[in-house]
Amino acid sequence: MDDHGNWLSLAEIASRINAAELRATDLVDQSLKVIEEKKDYDAVIVTTTARARERAQVIDEQVKRGENAGRLAGVPFIAKDNYLVFGAETTAASNILKGFVAPYQSTVIEKLEAEGAICVAKANLDAFAHGSSTENSDFAVTKNPHDKTRVPGGSSGGSAASVVLGMVPFALGSDTGGSIRLPASWSGCVGYKPTYGLTSRSGVVAMASSTDCMGPLTRTVEDAALVLDIVAGRDDRDSTTIERNPEGYVLSGPNMDLHGKKIGVIKEYMGEGLQPGVRAVIDTSIEKIRAAGAEIRDVSLPSLPMALAVYYIVVPAEVSSNLGRYDGQRYGYRYKDAKDLNESYSKSRGIGFGKEAKRRIMIGTYVLSSGYYDAYYKRAQTVRTKLINEFERAFKDADFLLGPTAPMTAFKIGENVNDPLQMYLADIMTVGVSLVGSPAVVVPAGESDGLPVGLQLMAAQRQDKSLLQLAKAVEELVRA
Ligand code: GLN
Repeated sequence: MDDHGNWLSLAEIASRINAAELRATDLVDQSLKVIEEKKDYDAVIVTTTARARERAQVIDEQVKRGENAGRLAGVPFIAKDNYLVFGAETTAASNILKGFVAPYQSTVIEKLEAEGAICVAKANLDAFAHGSSTENSDFAVTKNPHDKTRVPGGSSGGSAASVVLGMVPFALGSDTGGSIRLPASWSGCVGYKPTYGLTSRSGVVAMASSTDCMGPLTRTVEDAALVLDIVAGRDDRDSTTIERNPEGYVLSGPNMDLHGKKIGVIKEYMGEGLQPGVRAVIDTSIEKIRAAGAEIRDVSLPSLPMALAVYYIVVPAEVSSNLGRYDGQRYGYRYKDAKDLNESYSKSRGIGFGKEAKRRIMIGTYVLSSGYYDAYYKRAQTVRTKLINEFERAFKDADFLLGPTAPMTAFKIGENVNDPLQMYLADIMTVGVSLVGSPAVVVPAGESDGLPVGLQLMAAQRQDKSLLQLAKAVEELVRA
């Protein structure tokens, strides 16, 4: 911790642990203390105390023996509860997975542990990551760190809140249509969604397999880059993973020079419906970026207004098939008094799944059913392809794209729970890039009425390194 009680940078923590100036056991205790003090925010579902303390001891002993304990030695972190992690149940915040203890860990967790990081808790989320506010959790609603009457954003709301509340220096989230970026924007931290396939999906409860991406929520871009550097790359357990950039992702040296960089402002995101306070923050950021030498231009992606509709066809289709495995027979909740197998299936699923999961299963099976496939699923995939082509073209005209993360700041708890369409609208600016598979990052850019506003930056597929370089330069400009 620094003099203001903030966590040091991840690299700094690890270097002090390796130099025996800090002890992993103390950092784990510190983290657990803050989690306990701030438990009324409901950011955390469960702590993994025993295993975390054990691992911390092992690391402290390693250092005592003069060994290097890794690039994240002793760094405590929190994983969204859809990551399979040893030391606690993995529930994805759904009743149907209560009691499920992971038999293996996610690849991302394994890679972080290999560098000495320590998972101290599992974060709350919208059940199965279906949502934009963390209100769809079957267990509790996470509160916004800036205003307890508001949502933190979702679905990685617990992860974002845990970082902003100082429980840990970084947390893990998953982003299928904005679930890392939206809570980063509304809670006020950095959120990184990598290129699709750059981080392994193995060992994370599947939502929509063609857009699920694993990534970090951090206080700074530099920390996000370090985490990405450790977790990125091909994984034998996920055939959709891609090779990492040979130079890696760690940011070092001077900031990217913005002179001559072409940055496209997405026209479709700057129109009507954008809250004036959000627009003001984004406009100010654009001016600062322009003043630093970047060439700002308007870019139009004509199919973008259809992205939300496409997303809410394609994603429920994949969700309905991925949720097929929760049948009450293999793991998680099972209805005990069933007379036969059919009743066991239907009661286990009927009682175990929450409202939103059921809604998505119904929409998904509907759009995939033989009578409606052509009208919905096939057309949605066609528009998705158009969108991919339009983004590709846009990245020929501009090095990066820029826009808000959401049209509004964090809304009040309960405000939209009975209006799924209104809830889905919060995703209107994040789903496009998810369907396309490009990387995107959110950096805190200012406030509107005391609530955080995040600026969203995007790059072409596999340009994660340069996107992070840009984000670091922009972060310094817009924070000032
Ligand atoms: N809010 C979006 C949805 O509900 C995104 C969720 C996510 O990225 N996991 O589908």
